Amino acid sequence: MKTPLKLLIEYFGYDAFRPMQEEIIYHILSGNDTIVLMPTGGGKSLCYQIPALAKNGLSLVISPLIALMKDQVQALNANGISAAFLNSSLSWNDETEVLHELAKGSLKLLYVSPEKLFSEGFVGNLKKWNLSLIAIDEAHCISSWGHHFRPEYKSLGRLKDLFPKVPLIALTATADKAVRSEIGSLLKMKAPKMFLGSFDRPNLSLNVLPGQKKWEQMLKMLERYPGQNGIIYFNSRKATEDIANKLQSIGRKVSAYHAGLESVERDRIQEDFIQGKISIICATVAFGMGIDKSDIRFVIHYNMPANIEGFYQEIGRAGRDGLPAETLLFYSYRDVMTQMHFIEQIDNPDYKKIQISKLDRMKEYAESQVCRRKILMTYFSEFPEEDCGNCDVCQNPPEYFDGTTFAQMAISAVVRAKEKIGPGTLNDVLRGVYSPQVKERGLDQIKTFGAGRQLNKFIWTLYIQQLIQLGLLEMDYKDAYSLKITPLSKEVLFENGQVKLVTADTIKQRQEKKVEIKKQIPKTLDREEDEALFIELKALRNEIAEKVRKPAYVIFSNQSLVDMAMIKPTSMDEFLTVHGVGEFKASKYGEPFMNRVQEFLQSQ
Ligand code: ADP
Ligand code: ZN
Repeated sequence: MKTPLKLLIEYFGYDAFRPMQEEIIYHILSGNDTIVLMPTGGGKSLCYQIPALAKNGLSLVISPLIALMKDQVQALNANGISAAFLNSSLSWNDETEVLHELAKGSLKLLYVSPEKLFSEGFVGNLKKWNLSLIAIDEAHCISSWGHHFRPEYKSLGRLKDLFPKVPLIALTATADKAVRSEIGSLLKMKAPKMFLGSFDRPNLSLNVLPGQKKWEQMLKMLERYPGQNGIIYFNSRKATEDIANKLQSIGRKVSAYHAGLESVERDRIQEDFIQGKISIICATVAFGMGIDKSDIRFVIHYNMPANIEGFYQEIGRAGRDGLPAETLLFYSYRDVMTQMHFIEQIDNPDYKKIQISKLDRMKEYAESQVCRRKILMTYFSEFPEEDCGNCDVCQNPPEYFDGTTFAQMAISAVVRAKEKIGPGTLNDVLRGVYSPQVKERGLDQIKTFGAGRQLNKFIWTLYIQQLIQLGLLEMDYKDAYSLKITPLSKEVLFENGQVKLVTADTIKQRQEKKVEIKKQIPKTLDREEDEALFIELKALRNEIAEKVRKPAYVIFSNQSLVDMAMIKPTSMDEFLTVHGVGEFKASKYGEPFMNRVQEFLQSQ
C-alpha cells in the first residue's frame, strides 16, 4: 500500500500535509470513527479522499449541496481520480452511467445527497458495492441546535445500523459547541475521536468600519480590487439587488443572489461566479455554502451577522489559496437591533438565551479595540499570545482623548429626554437638528439641544456607540431601543468621572487603510520577470479551461501558477515539484505549460 504522503504527492501534487491531516488519515485508516472540525479552507476533503484512495472498494461521501458535489468531483477527476456524484440534478442517462460504473466497481469515490441515499433501493445497492468508508460533509446539518439544520440529515443516524463495520467520518467547520457535541451521538458513532484543527486563517485581514456612508467606504475599498473576486453579504434580499445594480452601473461584473430567486437562476449565478464570468456576488447568507473557489480576494459584510460562527464561515470563503485576502464588516446599532428583532421571535427561552449571548460575542468582535483575531480565536477556544498584525486594530491602534465633556452632554440629553430617546434622535438633539422626531417630541426645548453642534453626525455616532460600549449608556431592547442611564453615567455627571474615548482620527486612519495590492499579481511574485511569466501562464490556463469547458482553477490554481512562474520548469521532474501538480495533471497539461516557459526563457 502506498503511504498517505506518497498519495498526496502523486495525486494532489502537494509536498506536505497541513496540520492534523496526516494524523486524521492514519486514524481513519485504522478503521476508527472520526470527527473532524476544521475551518473552511482548512483542508478537510483530503482527510477522507486520501483514505479513499488507500483503501480497496468504494468511499461514499454525503454532502448537502449539489454545487459542491459537482466541483469536488470535477477537481478529483482533474487529478485522475475516478469519482462521480448522484443527486437530483443528473439526467436519467447520466445517472444510469454512474450506476453502471458502480456496478463495475470502477469508482473510488461517490458523492450523494442524503435524499438520494435513502431513495428506493439505493441502500440495497450500496451493500453490493464494497463500501470501505462513509464521509459526512457539513455534518453540523444534523443538529437541530445549529443554524443550518437539515431535516433530511436526521436519517443519517441509520447509517451505523445499516453498515456497522464501515468507518464513519463526520466533517464540519462549525464552532458551535452544542452542535459539535451532538454530532457523534446522532450519528451513533463508536467512540469517535474528535480532531480540532486550528481555526486561524492568518492570510485574512480583519477590518471593521462604522456602518454609515457604507457605499462610499466600500467603493474606496473596491478600488483596491479592480476586476477581482469578492462576496458582499447583506441581511435583506432587496439590498442585494440595489447594491448589485449600483455596482453594475459603475462597470463591475456583479450579480445578486438570494433565496427568492429560482433555483435554476441561482445555479447559473453560482456557476458564472465559479467560472469567473462574474467577479462580485451581492448575496444573503443563502449564498456560499459549498463554494469552493480559491481566489476570492475580499468578503464584505454590509450588515452584521447574528453570530461569530456564521461570520467566520462567510469570511472563510476568502483567500482559500493562502494568498492575502481582505474582510470588512460594517457595524451599526441598527443591525444589532435587526438581529435582536429576529431573536425576539424565538419561542424556546433556552435557545433564545443562547442566541442573545452569541450576538453579544459578535458585538464584542465588532467593537473591539484590541487585536480582533484574538477575539475570534478565543471564541474557537484558541488563545494566541501575540497580536496578529493583520487586523485594523493592530495596524492602527486606538488613540484616546479625554471625552468627558462630550460624554456629559450625551448623558445629560438622555436624562432630559426622560430616557425615551434612541441613538439616532440623540445624535440629532446634540447637533441641534430639527428632525421630525425632535419636533414631534419638543426635544428642541431641552437644555442640551445643539450643545454638541461642533461635531458632525458621523463623529457623534462614533462617540455615542462608545458610550454604550463603555456602559455609560445602556440600550433597552425591551423599550423600543431607547437609551437609559446607568450607575456609571451618574459618576460622570455628578462625581467628576473621566471618560476616555477613541478619536475619530483613529477610525479615519482605518478607513484610509492602504494595502499594497498589485492588481492580479500575488505578493510572492516580486521579480518583474516572474510576474510577466505568471500573466502568460494564466492566459494559457484560461485558454485551456475555455477549451475543455472547465473552471480555470480546476486546471491549475493561481497558487500553482505562481509557483510555476518562479520555478520555470522545463522538464517533467521539475514540473512535478510545482505546488498542486500531481502526476495526472503533469502528464495532461505539462507539455503546453513547459513549452510556454521555454518560449518565455528564450525571449528573455
Ligand atoms: P475545507 O473542505 O476544509 O473547506 P478543502 O478541503 O476544500 O477545505 O481545502 C481547501 C484548499 O486547500 C483546497 O484547494 C485544497 O486542495 C488545499 N489543500 C488541502 N490540503 C492541502 C495540503 N496538504 N497542501 C496544500 N494544499 C492543500
Ligand atoms: Zn490583530
